[in-house]
Amino acid sequence: MLKDEDRIFTNLYGMHDRSLAGAKQRGHWDGTADIIGKGRDWIIDEMKASGLRGRGGAGFPTGLKWSFMPKESDGRPAYLVINADESEPATCKDREIMRHDPHTLIEGALIASFAMQAHTSYIYIRGEYIREREALQAAIDECYEAGLLGRNAAGSGWDFDLYLHHGAGAYICGEETALLESLEGKKGMPRMKPPFPAGAGLYGCPTTVNNVESIAVCPTILRRGASWFSGFGRKNNSGTKLMALTGHINTPCVFEEEMSLSVREIIEKHGGGVRGGWDNLKAIIPGGASCPVLPKAALEDAIFDFDWMRENKSSFGTGCMIVMDQNTDVIKAIWRLSKFFKHESCGQCTPCREGTGWMMRVMDRLVTGDAEVEEIDMLLDVTKQVEGHTICALGDAAAWPIQGLIRHFRDEIEDRIKHKKTGRASAVAAE
Ligand code: SF4
Repeated sequence: MLKDEDRIFTNLYGMHDRSLAGAKQRGHWDGTADIIGKGRDWIIDEMKASGLRGRGGAGFPTGLKWSFMPKESDGRPAYLVINADESEPATCKDREIMRHDPHTLIEGALIASFAMQAHTSYIYIRGEYIREREALQAAIDECYEAGLLGRNAAGSGWDFDLYLHHGAGAYICGEETALLESLEGKKGMPRMKPPFPAGAGLYGCPTTVNNVESIAVCPTILRRGASWFSGFGRKNNSGTKLMALTGHINTPCVFEEEMSLSVREIIEKHGGGVRGGWDNLKAIIPGGASCPVLPKAALEDAIFDFDWMRENKSSFGTGCMIVMDQNTDVIKAIWRLSKFFKHESCGQCTPCREGTGWMMRVMDRLVTGDAEVEEIDMLLDVTKQVEGHTICALGDAAAWPIQGLIRHFRDEIEDRIKHKKTGRASAVAAE
């Protein structure tokens, strides 16, 4: 369990002064120029050694990603773009950073940009995050006034400008290339890869897109050392992490915890336990709407980290868990996610545009029990036609929750269909 002195985010609940003065009192902006003075290679090597994996859901090693940026300039500017388009259902961790601890992000933006030789960085913030934008902009303005941004930022010798760009509320703009399109003033539609952003990103220039938390933790990692950070969690899943608990737990919350604790510890320590006790647990969605649901039977020894979740056919995602108790209609829960992905598909590629509609329409019938049993396998087949055949990961994200539902709750789906045919509709289907 994480001790208070090991928390990176010390104002997660807004109990302290979030201004520059308050941030400095809590240890932020301490020795920033010294960190930059150690040079680009030292920063990137230290980030690699820390084991930090991207906190936006994909879990790609952050230091390695930074190292993909060109070492020598070919005349094009480099950019760091920070993805604050936090739109995944149940994920609300970056919001707490931006509204209560914005200086962690701004200091991180300066250091990370220097490491990637970027003089300019953009934060692309979710359209609905009005208060968070105000808090972040106020903090940026304070930094310009204090000389922490702009020419010779923080006395580092590095000129650095940071801009906040407000999105318009489209989920797909959280996909990094759709985000870049939107930032360029175009419709937010994902690009084909390659080229990858490190080669040709924003305005065709070398670009790294990182999640808010990934950038906000880097100053503390560099101040306290890679080995301090990698000492939490387990190999390949190291560090501390902002996590969240929502759904049928006693105390929904966002919190910082070390990686690789058990799912049960996380729920009981931070969520006050499952509503009605552990035995009343039915399932969880580990870290965002695209992560396949896992039933209680799979969770007795479950470890909450990237590798355990992948090995057990789910995903750690953003680490923001949805907990469902025995009263949950899990078919209806996944049906609702199908509607979400159908609505958010940008419509650019056929398997996703048509597939999300097909999947949702079959789910419409499964949730009421009006489908045929044979349609369960047909639906599974459709998910496999979508998975891996689309421009961006939204197609996979729409397919995986349904695959998880069929893998673990096929009996419940069949029961509903059979009850409907015999006139004994379940309570939920009759709603
Ligand atoms: Fe658009 Fe879906 Fe294709 Fe992604 S997978 S580009 S959201 S249609």
